[in-house]
Amino acid sequence: MRALVLHKVGDLRLEELPMPNPGAGEVLVRVGFCGVCGSDIPRIHEKGTYRFPTVCGHEFAGTVEACGEGVFDLQVGEPVAVFPLLWCGKCPACEQGKYVQCQDYDYLGSRRDGAFAEYVVAPRRNLLRVPEGVSLEEAAMTEPASVALHALRRAGGCSFGETVAIFGAGPIGLLVAQWARILGASRILLFDIVPEKVEMARSFGFEQAFDSRTIDPVAEVSAQTGGEGAEVCVEAAGCPPTLLAALGSAKRGGRVVLLGNPSADVTLPQALISQLMRREVGIVGTWNSDYSVSGARDDWRDSLQAMAERKLALLPLITHRAPLSGAIAALNMMRDRSAFFAKVLIAPREG
Ligand SMILES: [Zn+2]
Ligand SMILES: [Zn+2]
Repeated sequence: MRALVLHKVGDLRLEELPMPNPGAGEVLVRVGFCGVCGSDIPRIHEKGTYRFPTVCGHEFAGTVEACGEGVFDLQVGEPVAVFPLLWCGKCPACEQGKYVQCQDYDYLGSRRDGAFAEYVVAPRRNLLRVPEGVSLEEAAMTEPASVALHALRRAGGCSFGETVAIFGAGPIGLLVAQWARILGASRILLFDIVPEKVEMARSFGFEQAFDSRTIDPVAEVSAQTGGEGAEVCVEAAGCPPTLLAALGSAKRGGRVVLLGNPSADVTLPQALISQLMRREVGIVGTWNSDYSVSGARDDWRDSLQAMAERKLALLPLITHRAPLSGAIAALNMMRDRSAFFAKVLIAPREG
C-alpha cells in the first residue's frame, strides 16, 4: 500500500509499505479521508513523533476492508469512524472509562502508524459505524468535532441566555461555535486575526465574528454583554494574546477553557490574576474527547448523530483535498501558510 512515511523531522516520503494485517480483535480499514490536524504540522516539521518511521494522520474515516480473528459484527465495505487513542485498559483512568487520561496509551498517527495511508489497522473497539446519510468526508471530521464538543463540556456546557466567546476561528474554533449554537447559547462571539477566518465564521452564520487586529476582543466582549463578560471563554488558538483575551473576558463565575496547543510562554499581568480571583473564574484544560466502549453516549456518538441530523456543517470547513501524491505539497502549504486554509483532507483513494 502507499503511505506517507515520516522518517525524521521534516523528512516525509511517499512510499510503498507492506499491507498491514489485522490481528485478533482488530480491523483493517481502507482510509477514505484523513484530515490534517493543526498538531500534525509541528509534529511533522518541528517536533517529530515518538518513533521513526511513522505514518501520521489521526482524523479519519474509511470502510472496513478485513476483520481480524474474533470480529464478526462488521461487514466488508461498511463505513466507520475511528477513535485514534488506543487505551491500555488497565490503569485507574481506563477503569473509570476516562480513556483520554490513560497513563499508557498508544495513538494512531503519532505513536503508531496512522491514516496518511491507503490502509490502517485499528482495534474493533475503536470503530464506530458511520450513520446513514453521513459522508466519509464528514465522518473523517468526527475527531475534531468531538474535540470541540468535549471542550464545551469541560466548561460545563452552555445554555440559553449565555454568551460563549471563542478566541481563534480555525476549524476547531468554528466547531466549538457550532456546538455552542446547538447547545443553545444565546450569543456567540468569535475572534481571529486572519480576515479569511473571520469571513468564514460569518459564512457559517456567526454574525458576531471580529477581526481582533482592529477590534480589541476584551472590550468587544464587554460591550456585547453590558460590561459583564462571557459565561464561557474558549481559547482556541494557543497564542499568548488569545489566552490573555480569554482570561480577561470571563464574567463573574465564568469558565475559561484552554483548548489551543500553546505556542509560547505567557506572562499573566498581576491585575488580570487579581480579576480572575475576584471574579472566581474557573479555568479548565481540555484534551482530546470522551469515547465510550460500552456504547453509552459520548462525544463521538453525539458528533456522528449531529452529523446525521444535519446539525453540524462540516463540508464548508474543507478548503483543500489532496491525494497522497499531493499530500507533501499540501502539508508544506500549511507549514508556510502560503495559502489560506481551514480543513485540509488527504484522500488516499484518489491516486
Ligand atoms: Zn487532531
Ligand atoms: Zn489506561
